[in-house]
Amino acid sequence: MEFSVAYEHQELIRMVRRFIDAELKPLEDEVEESGILKEQDAKRIFEKSSALGLYAMNVPEELGGAGLSAVETMLVEEQFGHTSDILVRRAFGNVYEVLFACDQVQRQRWLLPTVRGIRTCSIAITEPGAGSDAAAIATRAELKGDGWTLTGGKHFISDGAYSDYFVVSAVTDKSKGNKGISLFLVDKDSPGLSLGRDQKMMGLRGTSHVELFFDQVRLERVNLLGELGTGMRQILTTLGRVRLGQVGARSIGKASHVLNLAVEYANGRKQFGQPIGEFQMIQQMIADSVIEINSARLLLLRAAWEIDRGKDARDWISMVKVHATEVANKVADRAVQIFGGMGYCKDLPIERYYRDLRIGRIYDGTSEIHRLVIARSTLNSGSKLFDGLWSGAWTG
Ligand SMILES: Cc1cc2nc3c(=O)[nH]c(=O)nc-3n(C[C@H](O)[C@H](O)[C@H](O)COP(=O)(O)OP(=O)(O)OC[C@H]3O[C@@H](n4cnc5c(N)ncnc54)[C@H](O)[C@@H]3O)c2cc1C
Repeated sequence: MEFSVAYEHQELIRMVRRFIDAELKPLEDEVEESGILKEQDAKRIFEKSSALGLYAMNVPEELGGAGLSAVETMLVEEQFGHTSDILVRRAFGNVYEVLFACDQVQRQRWLLPTVRGIRTCSIAITEPGAGSDAAAIATRAELKGDGWTLTGGKHFISDGAYSDYFVVSAVTDKSKGNKGISLFLVDKDSPGLSLGRDQKMMGLRGTSHVELFFDQVRLERVNLLGELGTGMRQILTTLGRVRLGQVGARSIGKASHVLNLAVEYANGRKQFGQPIGEFQMIQQMIADSVIEINSARLLLLRAAWEIDRGKDARDWISMVKVHATEVANKVADRAVQIFGGMGYCKDLPIERYYRDLRIGRIYDGTSEIHRLVIARSTLNSGSKLFDGLWSGAWTG
């Protein structure tokens, strides 16, 4: 296995962390308190990060991105975990890989302005009646003349209040099941599209999560993303990188940030005349957290490395999605314990990290759904995912 990182990319990863510490961390408390990232702050962090070449780094070089390998992208994504979701979105962008399916005309209208930070996009798949079962959507696009008419609704759409357009899944041919679902690029100002409530969440303050309603929204040929009927396949393949980076890697980053704070506290806080870090029960929590964070990172790098060598990494991505998010939840829970009452108190950010990390086990496929994927693959094809002889990278 080869996890080495090009020298200039090592510098880039360090620069991301420095940028987060200097420019984003100071904004966190205010965003948490007010629930809003001020427009002028959003503009400032976007402009500064763009000037440093830190915006849309996950995009290939020919499209204006940094041209990082999957391994390098994950190391950057891990750094993103050190700050809040909304600050990452505004400072570093959120260009979903599903947009790389844009044709030449779509690139000019949607993808390239998104890479430059002129437009932003949200993914709109989930509906009140269709979550884990993403193929059970009721939103439909009916063929009318040269285009379609979109009817239905979505909910929980992250950053939807801010986004200029949405990648929307819709049924285009009910008789074909999974193969009758397609993806569409839908501009927010399309007649018939309206936003509903901003659904309040346990954490992720500052990021909106909205309902979308489509009432006879007119779509043209140019709005169809990828081929007709390939929506589910696109969701399953391209959203994998989102799971790996935005959920897996960022969970590991946040877990290590939280552990750092817990270790500092354990060294400084004295009870019974000694630092609490000298109590073996506290030491066990720290040791377990170190072991688990490292095991999650190794799994993350392994999955990224499978992508870099052109392999189908879906099972590995599912393993990371489950393990990294569960590790992060355990580490955050232990951190609350190590901080005692201060861990539960809003004077410190520990309780916020605990709340923010909880969603990792739910969105982009729940832990249960990813466990199903791993189990099915294993039951169907035997030991390739775990036997050292077959799952080892050295077997090629
Ligand atoms: C903060 C937040 C942000 C989100 N952002 C977006 C977004 O930007 N775009 C978007 O499209 N969606 C988004 N979602 C939706 C998210 O992806 C879904 O919530 C998630 O896929 C789970 O779907 P559900 O909530 O309908 O739960 P359900 O599917 O109803 O699941 C409920 C429970 O049943 C379990 N379950 C379901 N099926 C099975 C099974 N076959 N076997 C075992 N257990 C099962 C689940 O694991 C879970 O424990 C977001 C959600 C939240 C909360």
